[in-house]
Amino acid sequence: MSGSASLRDRLNVTVRDIPRSGIRDFFDIVSTMKDVISLGIGEPDFDTPWHVRESTVFALERGVTHYTSNLGYIELRRALTKYVRKAFGPDYNPDDEVLITVGVSEALDLALRALINPGDEVLYHEPCYVSYRATILFAHGVPLAIETNSKNGFRLTRAMLESKVTPRTKVLMLNFPNNPTGGIMARQDLEDIAAFVRERDLIVITDEIYGELTYDAPHISIASLPGLRDRTIFLHGFSKAWAMTGFRLGYACGPAELIEAMMKVHQYTMLCASSLSQKAAIEALARPETDIAEMLHEYRRRRNYIAGALADIGLECHRPLGAFYAFPSIASFGLSARDFALKLLHEEKVAVVPGTAFGACGEGFVRCAYATRMENIKEAMVRMARFVKALNS
Ligand code: PMP
Repeated sequence: MSGSASLRDRLNVTVRDIPRSGIRDFFDIVSTMKDVISLGIGEPDFDTPWHVRESTVFALERGVTHYTSNLGYIELRRALTKYVRKAFGPDYNPDDEVLITVGVSEALDLALRALINPGDEVLYHEPCYVSYRATILFAHGVPLAIETNSKNGFRLTRAMLESKVTPRTKVLMLNFPNNPTGGIMARQDLEDIAAFVRERDLIVITDEIYGELTYDAPHISIASLPGLRDRTIFLHGFSKAWAMTGFRLGYACGPAELIEAMMKVHQYTMLCASSLSQKAAIEALARPETDIAEMLHEYRRRRNYIAGALADIGLECHRPLGAFYAFPSIASFGLSARDFALKLLHEEKVAVVPGTAFGACGEGFVRCAYATRMENIKEAMVRMARFVKALNS
């Protein structure tokens, strides 16, 4: 049509201007290549526990194929409040303080949309999960990134928050154990941050999807600290600790007013999470200790191996303490993170993700996920050692 604006010009400007996820872009290249060992995707390689899959089949046979309540099955919400109390500390009312969502992804989006008025600032720490900045922008918020660094194990401190906060800051987003760095929080830092949140009257959105996966020290939820439960939206789900990514099941817990607001957005946009996935989640909560313990044991073994192997190769890497990622520095080679990752991919067929996919301060780092079989990790380390030797020579 002559004279009319191009379709691109008619797009919402935020959506138009936001780049595609750096991970997906990178894996479009990987998918065209053969025999690549991937340390790229942040997805467990374990099968979903069999009793969970079996119960999903039974549920399907019994005809569990209809809408559920908007909040999700009450049996699941009851089971979740018990699990959250035991595993993370805070106590929630299953009637009005829990919302079942389509993954933590949806819960993040709902939390931001429920809270943010145009121009409200959201503090979050980088490097971080690829969707945070985009989700804040889609909610018309203003993202305020705080750089964390390898020197202190990518922890967040009160001083870092103080240097960025303004009177327009409304929300603090946290993700520990962290994707992509494997960092966790020390209790003292978390307590200092909790005090800061109370003083500044902020709301916290805490993404604790890797909460079960810590290796040397137990995870501490900010929602369990004094005065924080009533100003925190706690997010968690089944993708990581239960290897249930494809079920797309997550949940939010928080004060009833916030859950009610999130429920309204969910009701009008999603209606409910999949009924079959909700049944699967009820079964997953039947014996979390045994299901998770096996996977945790294997992740720890891999973490120990990869931390040692990266050190032997000469790649400086803070010791990953949680999640299933190592985030070594590649800054000494004079290549950008993207060029390093592309060269490694083309020359040695090992896929890692450039740190810049997780924010500008990820420059100089690459993310290596150890959510793949030990033999793959071992071969990847042999290839990376050869690659680094060639770069150094
Ligand atoms: N938060 C973090 C920190 C993640 O790493 C991921 C998945 N990689 C998600 C949220 C999304 O999880 P879900 O599958 O529950 O949507």
